[in-house]
Amino acid sequence: MDHGNAATRGWNPPNRAGGTARRCDVLVIGGGPAGSTAAALLADKGWEVVLLEKDRHPRFHIGESLLPMNLPLFDALGVRGEIEEIAMMKYGAELCSPHHDWKQTYLFSDALDKSWPHAYQVPRAAFDHILLRNCARKGVKVIEECRVTRVGFPKAGGCVVSAAGAGQGEQVWEARYLVDASGRDTFLANKLGIKRRNPRHASAALFGHFTGVERLPGRDEGNISIFWFEHGWFWVIPLRNGITSVGAVCWPRYLKSRASSSEAFLWETIALSPGLSSRMRNARLTTPVTATGNYSYMAERMAGKGYVMLGDAFAFIDPVFSSGVFFAMNSALLGAETVDGALRHPARRRIYEARFDKAVRRGLTSFSWFIYRMTSPTIRDMLMSPRNVCRIQEALLSLLAGDVFRSRSVHLRLLLFKAIYYVNAARAARRSFAAWRRRKRALRDDYREPAAG
Ligand SMILES: Cc1cc2nc3c(=O)[nH]c(=O)nc-3n(C[C@H](O)[C@H](O)[C@H](O)COP(=O)(O)OP(=O)(O)OC[C@H]3O[C@@H](n4cnc5c(N)ncnc54)[C@H](O)[C@@H]3O)c2cc1C
Repeated sequence: MDHGNAATRGWNPPNRAGGTARRCDVLVIGGGPAGSTAAALLADKGWEVVLLEKDRHPRFHIGESLLPMNLPLFDALGVRGEIEEIAMMKYGAELCSPHHDWKQTYLFSDALDKSWPHAYQVPRAAFDHILLRNCARKGVKVIEECRVTRVGFPKAGGCVVSAAGAGQGEQVWEARYLVDASGRDTFLANKLGIKRRNPRHASAALFGHFTGVERLPGRDEGNISIFWFEHGWFWVIPLRNGITSVGAVCWPRYLKSRASSSEAFLWETIALSPGLSSRMRNARLTTPVTATGNYSYMAERMAGKGYVMLGDAFAFIDPVFSSGVFFAMNSALLGAETVDGALRHPARRRIYEARFDKAVRRGLTSFSWFIYRMTSPTIRDMLMSPRNVCRIQEALLSLLAGDVFRSRSVHLRLLLFKAIYYVNAARAARRSFAAWRRRKRALRDDYREPAAG
């Protein structure tokens, strides 16, 4: 569906014939993983691409744990070697539950497809900088410290964008296509008024970087650890140089109950998990603690005449499966194909858009079923005591690796996993009902608050 000129409300873009605007084929908003990936791929296809980024890289960003399925994308961009130099090897994930007296380790090498046995943990500042430099090397004109402020879609097609750069005044760009990769700023979805908070999920986070967090031994040193606790779960992501990223993901109302500083509250929250506290007994905070409000949302659509939205600019659900960067880069791959196809064959634009929409939603749907149930006791029990009946444990590993776009065999086995889940939940009906009611109540309370950007 096209949006007409809704985004231009209150702004009269300069007349095309006026000659004040600079021109390019594709204008990309945002130099995170989605924007840099799409820009590089479109430049490879021969388009003149301009990328506007409001910050100057390297800059801090959360989202440090990657998935094995990121690796083929790094290969496509030609950056795997550079990324490996800044990364910790991640072979899998360790799950720790306060209701079980053992830890459960999942290794990517046990997935249905054994050919992607590891992923990386990366400091995002350096990671995003590598991707941004890579697209500049491929011929993309990258302008940093330049924030896009307005957009219009003239009837004749394409887009007109206005941006404000540090000390450069206003610049106006005309492009044949707009790629919005502005992340959780959701620039275009806000302008079009199509951003919707997720009615089925709400979570908020509190995080920081530490030294002195105890690591897992040997090859598992770089694995992510997940600790469930009464208000949600924690991530422990080991990075290079002895730094560990630790964050709590919880119901937004728990975060709002904080009476102390963010730093004190993070320590108080860590103290609620004996397993994590023990690993952090010698830890020291090295960064300010950051808190984010509820961030689960989706835009009504991801494409229309003259634009696509990628990564977090379209949707974000929850970080529990470390899928954000992979989704961002994969949607950039699919979005770049859509833009390239629509520019070459404008009459087929809607077909390309429909394909793009279907593929992106397929990935999000595969993960969201698990995300919505991650704190339910039934899923926790199943994940802590996995059984490989009909290879469903391998399929689960494929999901955790991000292998949800290629293989039907993964989806069929995940269906079986879901069927077993419903049987188990019915068997423990009283416990399941209590968990369902708690979740409903928390969602209802949180729904009153607007979604954070
Ligand atoms: C608490 C938390 C933990 C997470 N943990 C993980 C994890 O472990 N693993 C994982 O894969 N994902 C994780 N994520 C998700 C991950 O951070 C995002 O999914 C990912 O960064 C999305 O990439 P992107 O390119 O779409 O957006 P971003 O990385 O946010 O990039 C958007 C870019 O656009 C720029 N921009 C915004 N507005 C404008 C504008 N108007 N003009 C110009 N530039 C603009 C921004 O400066 C930014 O550089 C986590 C998210 C949260 C909230």
